[in-house]
Amino acid sequence: MAERFTDCVVIKVIDCGEADKLVTLYCPKAGKLNVIAKGAKRSKKRFVNKLEPFSHLSILYNDKYKLPLITEAALIASFLPLRRQFLLYAAATLICEHLYYWTAASDGDPVLFDWLLWSLNELSKSGAPQNTLVLFLTKLYGILGYQPDFSGCTTCGSLDPSNAPYGFQTGRGTVICRKCSREDKPAIPLAIPTIKLLDMSFKLPMAKLSRLKLNRNSNREALRMFQYYGRYLLDRDFQTWRYIL
Ligand SMILES: [Zn+2]
Repeated sequence: MAERFTDCVVIKVIDCGEADKLVTLYCPKAGKLNVIAKGAKRSKKRFVNKLEPFSHLSILYNDKYKLPLITEAALIASFLPLRRQFLLYAAATLICEHLYYWTAASDGDPVLFDWLLWSLNELSKSGAPQNTLVLFLTKLYGILGYQPDFSGCTTCGSLDPSNAPYGFQTGRGTVICRKCSREDKPAIPLAIPTIKLLDMSFKLPMAKLSRLKLNRNSNREALRMFQYYGRYLLDRDFQTWRYIL
């Protein structure tokens, strides 16, 4: 018998057979964890409103089986607004999809877990899905070790309007100016204010990050950049992007 206790966020739920659910969790220490919830589809009482996407739970599970069995779940936060508004739902889903494909079992990261909770909280109360998504993704790529360099053009170091437009280079995680790239129309353009805001968001701590507001254009450019960067690094495209951009 190996009963374990953990804090977690539900990042994916799929029905499994007649009565069960297969739930993927992200945990601060255990990382990505697949658990089976026996009878969760039938028994409304035991797991009611708990095994839902984005729920913050505290669970008891038994890992003596190949696929651990969840025995108890206590709801800490349900982030209900995320299930009531489509764009918030799409943004939270995209965050969970990133967690699902970027993390592994037995490889938890308490800092990443805190940022996940921060982003679900921000989405619930700010109602600014694109802004929150940009800020979460800057932190995610920083934690993963793929933090792009936004300090200036990768070749000449400039961040100067006379060298605009600047473009993002997915293969190197850097920006390049028009003069160095000799392209008048970069494939993934980033305006100078967007580059500066992204650079700042990597550096700001959690307590101050909520105050960073990107305008509509910067959010769009930054999200498009993250879409292409993630596609390049993971060799995978998330369908959810089409609801965000
Ligand atoms: Zn340059």
